[in-house]
Amino acid sequence: MAVKAKVKIFREKCKGCGLCVEYCPRGILELDKKINLQGYNPAIVIDEDKCSGCGFCFLVCPDVGIEVEKVEEGGK
Ligand code: SF4
Ligand code: SF4
Repeated sequence: MAVKAKVKIFREKCKGCGLCVEYCPRGILELDKKINLQGYNPAIVIDEDKCSGCGFCFLVCPDVGIEVEKVEEGGK
């Protein structure tokens, strides 16, 4: 059964450090050109379909700005 993952970035918690962008093995994270309310360029997901759910982005984020949720496809 295919398992997909959903990445949720909390735009306003992100400080734009870029660690998740650097560590994502699939290269699907980028820093947005638009700033958030804190004045940082937050991370965005550019191709969620390619996310493996490895959780590296969640582990490296110092600001708890990312959540990764695995979604089983084809299941109930
Ligand atoms: S869970 Fe893994 S593949 Fe998905 S965005 Fe995070 S680091 Fe990239
Ligand atoms: S690691 Fe966290 S704080 Fe840094 S850019 Fe990614 S989401 Fe933002």
